[in-house]
Amino acid sequence: MSAVKPLDAHYIQWHARRLVEAVRRFGLVHRDEDGGFLIFLFARHWLIREVHPHYRLQVARALDTPERDPPVSSWLLHQVEEGDDAAWIGMLWDRFAQNSQTDTTPARLMPPPVVQGIKEQRVGELIRRWRQLGLFMVPYQQEVRRLGAVEREVMRDLGGADDRERIGLIDSLQVADQSIPSWAKMALIPRLACPESCRHCMFIWRPPMKHLPDPGPLLATINQRTANLLFTGGDLTGELDLFHHAIATMDQVETFAILLNGQLAHTRAAADDFFAALHRALARRPRSFARARVVVQISLDEYHQEILANRRGELRERIPVAHVARLLIAGAGWNGGTVALVHKQNSLNFSTLLFQHGVLGRLAAELELRGWNIGDVHWLTSPRSKEHPAQPGRQGGVIREAQLSLVGPATAATVHFISSCIDAMGRAELMDRSEYVHEPLLLESWLQGASPVMDPFDTDPMLWRNGNVTLFGAIHLWMGHFFEEGDRIFTRWHKDPLVAALARMDLRVLTAHQAWNARKHHELVQSATSPHGLMHAMTRDSAARLFLTRWLLTHPAERVLIPS
Ligand code: SF4
Repeated sequence: MSAVKPLDAHYIQWHARRLVEAVRRFGLVHRDEDGGFLIFLFARHWLIREVHPHYRLQVARALDTPERDPPVSSWLLHQVEEGDDAAWIGMLWDRFAQNSQTDTTPARLMPPPVVQGIKEQRVGELIRRWRQLGLFMVPYQQEVRRLGAVEREVMRDLGGADDRERIGLIDSLQVADQSIPSWAKMALIPRLACPESCRHCMFIWRPPMKHLPDPGPLLATINQRTANLLFTGGDLTGELDLFHHAIATMDQVETFAILLNGQLAHTRAAADDFFAALHRALARRPRSFARARVVVQISLDEYHQEILANRRGELRERIPVAHVARLLIAGAGWNGGTVALVHKQNSLNFSTLLFQHGVLGRLAAELELRGWNIGDVHWLTSPRSKEHPAQPGRQGGVIREAQLSLVGPATAATVHFISSCIDAMGRAELMDRSEYVHEPLLLESWLQGASPVMDPFDTDPMLWRNGNVTLFGAIHLWMGHFFEEGDRIFTRWHKDPLVAALARMDLRVLTAHQAWNARKHHELVQSATSPHGLMHAMTRDSAARLFLTRWLLTHPAERVLIPS
């Protein structure tokens, strides 16, 4: 049986891995004569920002090599609290000068040879170069506030004058097909609130949803248009009554999925109660209803379960792995549907070490503590090669799906595991790119017009409990207000040229966006982490949505839309 390690061991191990990978990526991207010094500056700032002082030395030791004496960690942490970058680089310069005769290490951290006599000039150049990179210049929380303010504006603009003009334009179009479509899936957002602040979350600011109308009409319309309903949003722990009500009353829906962050399972009894309530809700469905199942999706990744240090250096898990273990065990004997772990891809996804290290290693230990273990694992890799986030230039298949066999004292069950990419949106914009698998290769190929195989942009409808209707792939792309307009909203899916272009991943959206704002367009292309992320970013501004829609109407592709 593998013992559950104390949190500090996990904290040090995980941050050491993050440090090595961030430094490796930085070093590969900045391979020039200044690179050595810049790497040291990067590593030093990374440690100061990411690691509590109690643990910095242990984490920094991940960069030590047996040949180098004194070790890199001692240089990195020299005068951490005082001393500006120039003074610190000067100190480093002197140390290298002293050691240059004896140090033969061909390490990745080796700086260029020190040229005596030009120290001040070179240190000044290095500091200027470092500042030009713009890294770690603004405190993290200040950056979060800045991005949060942008998000607030985007959300407040939802359904504003531009969106209403855009919708009016779409409604004025005549198309042969006036029917109300149905979809493979639809989502309901009961509320967007969440008390957590995961580093990869696409939300920083969430619109408050208060004084909400009766959800009955929303459920009724979803019931007519899809067999698969997903409850999503923030922390849905407080929205389970509505989920149970939906299960018990929506006769056409066959799959009820809910995405949980696991916070509710603070005891085994709470986890058991959760599944018992689902069972009761399913049992309330009359026999005449479609046969239904529930898919319980539980987030499990390095961010939801991140180990955090408070000011005193005391550690806690953001959402404890034990909560997830309790839910898996409670769900193991349950026959009302499936339980799936929803994971975010990182460098571990490039091998089966994924199932032994990081958060999945911690989960295995928590399960074993309770007399359960993960047996056979059957996994699938992505159809396309992806770039290793810490080693730009290296590619490979990543594990994107698995079936985990969960074996207990008296029973066994299968747990589904789904692992997807992160896009640099919301809080995730502030993450170092070494930390998550993203899609630079796919993006490049798509931008070059190579029509790579990829999932379409998800344009299925997302209905907010407050009446807003948007898209799965773009929570800001406003299609109307259900409580003002009713089902008529859904006819827009036949007509909206922007939705159609997104669904086709049509490159003309880029041309149109560039015509709207060339500078903004350049910025978005430079910072995009995937084709879908770029489409998402290009439609965030309501003025852009209106412009893109008009542009697409005047530059039709395959479908001819006739203004009335
Ligand atoms: S990722 Fe989920 S749990 Fe984390 S902050 Fe966002 S909504 Fe909350």
